[in-house]
Amino acid sequence: MADVIPAPPQPRLRVAGTDAWFPVRRVYCVGRNFADHAREMGAAVPTDADRGTPVFFLKPADALVPGGGDIPYPPGTRELHHEVELVVALGEDATVFGYGIGLDLTRRDLQAAAKAKGLPWDTGKSFDHAAPASALLPAHIVGELGPRTLSLEVDGKRRQSSTLDQMVWSVPEILAELSKLYALRAGDLVFMGTPAGVGPLQPGNRFHASLDDLLELDGTITT
Ligand code: MN
Repeated sequence: MADVIPAPPQPRLRVAGTDAWFPVRRVYCVGRNFADHAREMGAAVPTDADRGTPVFFLKPADALVPGGGDIPYPPGTRELHHEVELVVALGEDATVFGYGIGLDLTRRDLQAAAKAKGLPWDTGKSFDHAAPASALLPAHIVGELGPRTLSLEVDGKRRQSSTLDQMVWSVPEILAELSKLYALRAGDLVFMGTPAGVGPLQPGNRFHASLDDLLELDGTITT
């Protein structure tokens, strides 16, 4: 039987240093996974004694912008914010294949309005081009995550920087919690939450995200 419309393209990310691609199934995201970011958002600050439960939401896989580049300023907002994040990529048997970095781009004004009314965050988080993401590095090359530093510069100025040992919920813990709610599969990505320092992006801004000297992601906000 023929498709009645052309099949939409399969979202996918590059595997760093190879000609290979990683086809993407779903994009899960974790909210408030760094205490300093929870604090700057005025949210309850997780502590060792009381981490609460992780906050999860999803972005559509076709919101990915592989490799960054030109990111159109999205409609419906006057407050586009950057959130630099570690990206976990699940391979066969839903075990960790590798890691990338990405921006959880957020229409902060829409998210804030939804929060104030107790409504879902979808329009604030899920939109076209909302998830620029780097190539993926196999997990064994990245090694231990805790000492690695995730950073974001905008127009050459440091906006966000943190070691990954500051995550409230570790990668194995997040995968265990997600597994209580969803059947994780090969091709799933998890954006692991952002450290403090989120802020606005305007047309013309250039961003540069990095994980030490292992991974980088560059792009420009266009009109
Ligand atoms: Mn985020």
